[in-house]
Amino acid sequence: MRKQIAAANWKMNLTYKQAETLLDEILAAGLEPSPNQQVLFSVPFPYLIMANSEVAEETSYFIAAQNCSDKKSGAYTGEVSAEMLQSIGIKYCVIGHSERRDYFNESNQMLAEKVNLCLKHEIIPVFCCGEALSVREQETQNSFVQTQLEESLFHLSPEQIQNIIIAYEPIWAIGTGRTASTQQAQEMHHHLRSVLAGRYGQEVADNISILYGGSVKGANAIELFSSPDVDGGLVGGASLQATEFQQIIKALKK
Ligand code: PEP
Repeated sequence: MRKQIAAANWKMNLTYKQAETLLDEILAAGLEPSPNQQVLFSVPFPYLIMANSEVAEETSYFIAAQNCSDKKSGAYTGEVSAEMLQSIGIKYCVIGHSERRDYFNESNQMLAEKVNLCLKHEIIPVFCCGEALSVREQETQNSFVQTQLEESLFHLSPEQIQNIIIAYEPIWAIGTGRTASTQQAQEMHHHLRSVLAGRYGQEVADNISILYGGSVKGANAIELFSSPDVDGGLVGGASLQATEFQQIIKALKK
């Protein structure tokens, strides 16, 4: 059975003290995710050590990186490799967030390299995809997002693809307060699962968690997550508020 996942994306926010307080508040609620639920916190690089302290005792909570290099190692000042993440016990890494694609020119090909390096180092990529508003207005979002998957993921074997989490994040809904409707999210998630089934077979496709991202909040999470192909969310703004994120965790399907 595929996992239902609430993934926080803190982006470049919070001092370390604020981050510790937020995590403490969320954990203090004592929510106990069921065996098929997981909670991820994608934190800034310096805070990854929380994996060895703050959440070390928790079984369903994991600290994730927000990015890693497409290079193995070497003279790339400022970069952080998948191998380094593995060496400090990190098991999840967000790959290809639209902010990275847009501001740091990350191409589908570069993201394929990052995915390969993550898998080589036993890190599960949370692979982000999603279209800009102009693509949605032309009604070409299905083929646009399909190409993102094909160019970054479809070289993987059936065993490898089942170690990927996909996050569909329409760019027009990220940080804008404008959420995709439940129907729009379900339609795209169903399309992505069909594309995965076409390449890898239905059984493999059914094992892959596909998260929705884009202005998810406590108030809309239950409805969004209730769709059959929506397996939780990747959450930016609302993940910075303990009570909001607790509501989002509670909204996951059991
Ligand atoms: C995100 O950053 O991945 C995101 C979905 O942000 P927000 O929830 O703020 O729209």
